[in-house]
Amino acid sequence: MARGTGDILDVSHVVVSDRPLVVCDVDDVVLHFAAPFQEFLLAQGHEFLPRSFNLMGNIVASDTRLEVDIAGVYRLIGAFFEAQESWQLPIEEVVQTLEALSADADVVFLTAMPPLYSQQRRRLLDRLGLAFPLIASEEPKGPMMRRLNAERIFPTTFIDDMAHNLHSVRTHMPDSLLIHMMPDSALHLMAPKPQDDIVRARDWRHAEELIRAHWLPR
Ligand SMILES: [Mg+2]
Repeated sequence: MARGTGDILDVSHVVVSDRPLVVCDVDDVVLHFAAPFQEFLLAQGHEFLPRSFNLMGNIVASDTRLEVDIAGVYRLIGAFFEAQESWQLPIEEVVQTLEALSADADVVFLTAMPPLYSQQRRRLLDRLGLAFPLIASEEPKGPMMRRLNAERIFPTTFIDDMAHNLHSVRTHMPDSLLIHMMPDSALHLMAPKPQDDIVRARDWRHAEELIRAHWLPR
């Protein structure tokens, strides 16, 4: 991922046209994360204990039950993203739905995964038929989406499983349709809830209905 001047991520390699914009998080929105990450941990002799909404402090060695320290958790997450092509599968209906939406809108993936693993993610998305532009960055998502949309006046949508990302986009792009989508994983059920007026999509079919309704003139 090329960096622009200063410490702001350059998103100019992603060209957005004069159409509605749909920006999607990837982990647990487009690709399963929580479930395969737990399977990956087991295969590495570790496990996640759903004690609180945090990977830190809740991953233990399966044999000794000793907690993995922060550096060790980062190593495991990195190893998972390195091997993601062997572990992560698409969320149900995502491929067909994004293909249909892309006839009428620009679709962009905005993933908070460390940019180091962009190539693996790009290959995996391409193999699944999800060839939409990808931005991998751990910066707050609201300012990035605003830079991406620039001065365009077309309807925008943002989809994520994490409340803090939805709230970030709301702060910086208050007219965006915000859609909360998440699996019922133990981790997600303990996660902070998005504000009440943020709609939760049951699945991708439901998300498409919400997005197309948002495009209608008001
Ligand atoms: Mg996510």
